[in-house]
Amino acid sequence: MKNDIAYVLYSREELQACVKRLARQIEADYAGKDLVCVCILKGGVMFMTDLVREINLPLTMDFMAASSYGSGTRSAGVVRILKDLDKDITGKHVLIVEDIVDTGNTLSYLSNYLRQSRGASDIAICTLLNKPERREARDLKVNYIGFEVPNEFVVGYGLDYDEKYRNLPYIGVLKPEVYEKD
Ligand code: IMP
Ligand code: MG
Repeated sequence: MKNDIAYVLYSREELQACVKRLARQIEADYAGKDLVCVCILKGGVMFMTDLVREINLPLTMDFMAASSYGSGTRSAGVVRILKDLDKDITGKHVLIVEDIVDTGNTLSYLSNYLRQSRGASDIAICTLLNKPERREARDLKVNYIGFEVPNEFVVGYGLDYDEKYRNLPYIGVLKPEVYEKD
């Protein structure tokens, strides 16, 4: 698994420091509010579980899963909800927790869906990684960003290629030959 990584972009320690920094911002912004953290499965899992443990506020957790049609290393912009929220979010302050915003199509769709159909007070987005170069959803507002990453395919700490590498404790750049040979 490690042989497929060209180089480490963010170490375990850098990720921990980043999570703490974001948690402090979120605590300041959500104190006294009814906060629901919504993890986007599966990529957001590691980030979400670390993040909520750093946020010293009462909150609830929920999970959504979506698939964007298209395979390999590009998302196609057509989003399908595979798992919806379990609990009602009417009147709540929703923080969507995602691994990476790339084209932005997935989160544009999901945040509009939650905003329009579920009656939340407000929806904000917290992403560990942001790849602004590839943005297609121009009007997408990303409220909390861990790191801005270059336009390379990254894996680890929840992020996968073909469902693999999610369990790496760091974020690394995948060697292009790994996905080019498919
Ligand atoms: P978007 O709709 O293009 O913003 O795609 C978001 C989803 O694509 C993320 O939640 C990831 O699952 C996946 N993705 C985008 N870039 C990468 C990457 O560099 N590594 C792993 N997954 C990625
Ligand atoms: Mg994802």
